[in-house]
Amino acid sequence: MTQILEVKKLKKYYPIKKIGRRSYVKAVDNISFSVRRGKILGILGESGCGKSTLGRVITRLEMENGGDIFFLGNNISGINYRKIKDFRQKMQVIFQNPYDSFDPRRAIIKSLEIPMKLLNIGQNRRNRIEIIMDAMERAKLTPAYDYLERYPHELSGGQLQRISMLRSMLLKPNFLVADECVSMLDVSVRAEVLNMLLQFRSELETSILFITHDISVAKYMCDRIMVIYAGKVMEIADAKELISNPMHPYTKALISYSPIISPQREKDRFTITGEVVTPIDPPAGCRFASRCPFAKEICYTEDPEMTEISPGHFAACHLID
Ligand code: SF4
Repeated sequence: MTQILEVKKLKKYYPIKKIGRRSYVKAVDNISFSVRRGKILGILGESGCGKSTLGRVITRLEMENGGDIFFLGNNISGINYRKIKDFRQKMQVIFQNPYDSFDPRRAIIKSLEIPMKLLNIGQNRRNRIEIIMDAMERAKLTPAYDYLERYPHELSGGQLQRISMLRSMLLKPNFLVADECVSMLDVSVRAEVLNMLLQFRSELETSILFITHDISVAKYMCDRIMVIYAGKVMEIADAKELISNPMHPYTKALISYSPIISPQREKDRFTITGEVVTPIDPPAGCRFASRCPFAKEICYTEDPEMTEISPGHFAACHLID
């Protein structure tokens, strides 16, 4: 199966001023992974762990400090968004807040039509509107004409997020980054939005990087899940394997605290105490050591390597070594 995206040792450090020395916030630190055609990779972690930064660097909204990004076989590291002509069509992003991604002064039809026109999709305006109306009907945004002349503030968050997805999918992207795309929506409309994403994936074979803090949503959506903590990958495996057989203490804690995924695991719950390690010049060793109930001496001095536990299941923990 073709790899759409391959990320190797990606780094995103933000310099900050500290008296007497140069310091860095290490938001993304040496992260590697790949995504295959038509597959959904979940990026799972608490807020502030670097998962959104990772999405922004991959989509070229921010530039990396190190590492390589191969998209459709081309190395796109060091090239910013404006300079990659084809890239805008092939890689799309859906943000958390749909109201931020639409121009409030533009009617929906304009917001949908302009990117199509810029990328030469559709023969003329009439044809583009037909394509838009057809896509809206298929996405159950009906009657379609009822939405076209409305403005973003006249729609609910769920409706606008579905239109945001539609706008990306009209461009038939190979790859989509969905960054916490349902976290601001009411629970009642989340399933609709998630199912719409799954439908597009099957129709267009689009690969998706699905960024979320919610393990039950990740389980529902993803083929594979990568768990991130303080800018580092802790564990990556097929979704079913990761949830039924987590190996990293952090993943175990996330799963044991999810009442939807493990209602019976109350007795297995272990407490993780303390604060998330600061990403500003983080200390040597495992980033999770300050909260890990199993930490031993080596955990505070040596960064654990990623180890393959079973085919396709990797984790970084000295217990596994
Ligand atoms: Fe815990 Fe050590 Fe494993 Fe880190 S390497 S998760 S501190 S046991």
